[in-house]
Amino acid sequence: MSTPVQYSLNVKGIERDAMPADVLLVGAGPANLACAIHLARLLQQKGIEGKSILVLEKAAEVGEHTLSGAVMNPKGIAALFPDWRERGCPVEADVTWDGFELMRSKTGSTRLTGALVPPQFKNAGKVIVSMNQVVQWMKAEAEKLGVQVFPGFPAAEILFETVDGVERVVGVQTRDSGVDKHGEQKGTFQAGMNITAPITVFGEGPRGHLAKHLVKRHKLDAGKNPQTYGTGIKEIWEIPAERGQEWLGRVLHTTGYPTGLDAYAGGWVYGMKENKLSIGFVIGLDHWDAKLDPHALFVQWKQHPAIAKLLEGGKVLRYGAKTVPEGGYFSMPRLYGDGYVLVGDTAGFLNASILKGVHLAIQSGMLAAEAIAEAVASNDASAAKLKRYDELFEASWAKEELYGVRNWRQAFEGGVVGGMLDVPFQMLTGGRGLVARRKGHADHTTTRPVSMSRFTKPVYDDSKSMDKLTDVYHSGTIHEEDQKPHLLVLDTSICVTRCTTEFGNPCQHFCPAAVYEWPKEGAPAPGKGPTINFSNCVHCKTCDIADPYENIEWVVPEGGGGPKYHGM
Ligand code: SF4
Repeated sequence: MSTPVQYSLNVKGIERDAMPADVLLVGAGPANLACAIHLARLLQQKGIEGKSILVLEKAAEVGEHTLSGAVMNPKGIAALFPDWRERGCPVEADVTWDGFELMRSKTGSTRLTGALVPPQFKNAGKVIVSMNQVVQWMKAEAEKLGVQVFPGFPAAEILFETVDGVERVVGVQTRDSGVDKHGEQKGTFQAGMNITAPITVFGEGPRGHLAKHLVKRHKLDAGKNPQTYGTGIKEIWEIPAERGQEWLGRVLHTTGYPTGLDAYAGGWVYGMKENKLSIGFVIGLDHWDAKLDPHALFVQWKQHPAIAKLLEGGKVLRYGAKTVPEGGYFSMPRLYGDGYVLVGDTAGFLNASILKGVHLAIQSGMLAAEAIAEAVASNDASAAKLKRYDELFEASWAKEELYGVRNWRQAFEGGVVGGMLDVPFQMLTGGRGLVARRKGHADHTTTRPVSMSRFTKPVYDDSKSMDKLTDVYHSGTIHEEDQKPHLLVLDTSICVTRCTTEFGNPCQHFCPAAVYEWPKEGAPAPGKGPTINFSNCVHCKTCDIADPYENIEWVVPEGGGGPKYHGM
């Protein structure tokens, strides 16, 4: 069990500027932007003026770190803006066709269409979007209401204050910039600021690095299942025009190859404008194989004839990777505390049965906004007041949806067969299935010794088989090189004394951006762990989740560092 430690690369013991806000939101994803928009409107309706709502975002521009498939259920955005289409919310296409590909082998497959598509994969009424563009549009809508959005400001630490024995969150400290790789201040040094607020909203996306410590520190996960994640790998392709037109608005999901019955995994193909395809593959990180390589699985999947023929004659434009919180209702942490709430992926608002979370993220932000507006009106940001958010959630359609699939993901922990046996019972019993409440395991505990690994890497011998470094180039990721790595290996001796023999250093496999590099032969120098190519990092958080010793800590790099998911 890890102790609740909050890591940060900031310089200690220096003077810092302070900036007060009334409500501070960490992360400019769909949940936080929905929260800010709805809150601004609610405060206006209540006649409360002069309150500052401030959103911090670690990316240089809002949306650059936002990655999703994405087929969006418009239920969420329509609740926020009933006229979302007329207002100009960017949409790639309405879904016009669903397919479900059963990949039986390396080359064989059967495609189901129409009534044969499983209900979870029917998307009539949904829209294909680029979430990068959707959040940019939401940011503009928020600014029209007076919300301040500050991109390039990564939150590095949570600020706590204890009064009368009660610890409360009172804001965050942003990351210092201009510190070299040895920790020395450069001529460009700028100290991070203490941004204080009575209420802080954590919407950092999956495995938020601040929320992770808050959950441990305040035991927000007491009595809950461990959160379980998948890693999603995505590319945007441009394909020949005739095929591009044919696929506009089409949605194809796949199961089977290359993981077979071993893992909770699957792929997608979504038809976008301008002859583009969004393609991707998600693998559950509770997989047992120490050599599991999500990127290599994605390559194998692209090499399957059912996918390869779609990509023929095309070229890759963009690449990205991100984790997905799949655990569902029983894995959600307590949503509130003294001075704070958790929203969106950070709080586990995702329906894994349909692999959709945007509508739930937006709804979580709106519900949080209602509770925050009441807290602001009564000048009371205590946990007892912010509990209102949880009560609103429990009475909402979001709870109904998540509770209806409450045992979904855990039923697949032992593999696809067990899950498929339980699914019909879940559908008949409103999500219960054969067991009232299934338990789960944290992903870092499920890895088996490397001697048991069966994973073999694909042969990269065709135009669809980019290696990791080529794909990293397509992510546009960039970091200031002369800074301390934002990936902390907490005890490098574990890497070389235990991990090498027990698990074969899985970080070199599971990272989809080739960040962790081990010598091809022999061990690293004494006291050294892997070479960490931190500049490659695409901020997916897989290493923070999947390392079997919980020995890797992801913290924020200097402002603006990371991928550039334009159009993703
Ligand atoms: Fe993802 Fe970690 Fe690799 Fe960065 S270093 S890309 S967070 S696995």
